[in-house]
Amino acid sequence: MRTFPLLIGGVAVPAASGATYESVDPFTGQAWVQVPDGGAVDIDRAVRAARAALNGPWGQLTATARGKLLWRLSEIIGREAENLADLEVRDGGKLLREMSGQMASLPDYYRYFAGMADKLEGSVIPSDKPNFLIYTKHEPVGVVGAITPWNSPLLLLTWKLAAGLAAGCTFVIKPSDHTPASTLAFARLFEEAGFPPGVVNVVTGWGPETGAALAAHPGVDKIAFTGSTETGIKVGQAALASMTRLTLELGGKSAQVVFPDADLDAAANGVIAGVFAATGQTCLAGSRLLVHESVAEELVAKIVARASTIVVGDPHDPATEMGPVSNEQQYQKVLSHFASARADGATIAYGAEPVAELGGFFVKPTILTDVTPEMRAVAEEVFGPVLVVLTFADEDEAVAMANGTEFGLAGSVWTKDVHRAHRVAGNLRAGTIWINSYRAVSPSVPFGGMGSSGIGRENGIDAVKDFTETKAIWVELTGDTRDPFTLG
Ligand code: NAD
Repeated sequence: MRTFPLLIGGVAVPAASGATYESVDPFTGQAWVQVPDGGAVDIDRAVRAARAALNGPWGQLTATARGKLLWRLSEIIGREAENLADLEVRDGGKLLREMSGQMASLPDYYRYFAGMADKLEGSVIPSDKPNFLIYTKHEPVGVVGAITPWNSPLLLLTWKLAAGLAAGCTFVIKPSDHTPASTLAFARLFEEAGFPPGVVNVVTGWGPETGAALAAHPGVDKIAFTGSTETGIKVGQAALASMTRLTLELGGKSAQVVFPDADLDAAANGVIAGVFAATGQTCLAGSRLLVHESVAEELVAKIVARASTIVVGDPHDPATEMGPVSNEQQYQKVLSHFASARADGATIAYGAEPVAELGGFFVKPTILTDVTPEMRAVAEEVFGPVLVVLTFADEDEAVAMANGTEFGLAGSVWTKDVHRAHRVAGNLRAGTIWINSYRAVSPSVPFGGMGSSGIGRENGIDAVKDFTETKAIWVELTGDTRDPFTLG
């Protein structure tokens, strides 16, 4: 069995307690890797190492030097992309064809933010008072605790790391307990790129212990969390107790809104991409189809026809289109949604059962019709390949239905009417809207949620600033003294 150590202060170490745990390959159902079961002591060591790097060699580097290191890292990641993809497939069960693409895209994020490092300019503010020079600086927020989920471990980590390192921060990373391997392997690349020890530290372990210790550590200046809304609230409360800065990238229940003039073949393809790619285990899953009643039957027939041909199986096989659910806990959750949809009286247009012949954690792509908003499968994030279909009579109803959720991560509008496309996109309450498309992301485009989908944005030109504190500096220019009892 493969083993990986923690990385703390540039040194590969076991957990202080010596404890380890095994991570399971969801395709085989067998343990395949052994990693340290780090605890609060390891988190504390890692936070101290990150602080020492910040106050030491990393903090001394110019922004241009940081950008060069990020660029060098991007080249090394490019070389290692296939190895990293393989680790992510073994640990998380996602398709090799998807993870190869994700890993191949990582260098673009580090290059984008490498270029931003020395363009993080402050400003000189015209003074409303005589004889002052006033300017601002963007200083690194400090030590960042990054807590990541299992569905796209390195991509979602990169959404934090690339911008945060460009800003001059240091990191302690707690990957998901389900997918620890790729992050432990990835962290070793920083030394080769020339980063000083302690800039990037990784402690693996369980969420409620190791993750909670990081979120509550008073030496952490910012928590960048991606995961479920439930955990995000706990992490947020722990962080706030020590006034730690916070971004939360949380769950979703995104709507794909299809108008009668849409290209229904394209829409069907977009719906398949939105909810069945990655076995539906994606925060931005377009899991609610809202379709105009006049085309609902035709569109659902197209989606059912395509869903019934989806190849479910070995995630390493290039022909596979849907791999297993990533872990047993999540598999049980998806099965419970099948049961409650039946009990609630939804019509099973397709699926809602395990793929018996494959065993393991495989389920069929699932399409539920005749549903109502209060049904569990409609109201809750499933985080699995489950589409619910609702119909609307007009645009106002469509917008009200789309916005009738606590979440606000993403959504789409399918129509050929350019006026309606932009009008509806403007009226949907979500952080990302695609028009006649779905499931595209980029280093240069902000991503994040409204409502219960989170707080803050990752990526895009402003993301680096979110890893800084803005400092205003006032310089008195005359050397004279002032009335000490007035506010200047
Ligand atoms: P999760 O909330 O169970 O776990 C996320 C991370 O938090 C893991 O590393 C876990 O170990 C840790 N954790 C668990 N309990 C903790 C605690 N009490 N204190 C601190 N850390 C703790 O989420 P998951 O099941 O790994 O991931 C799936 C969820 O992530 C879904 O809800 C999905 O929508 C969301 N997600 C959001 C985005 C986004 O960008 N908005 C992207 C991907 C996934």
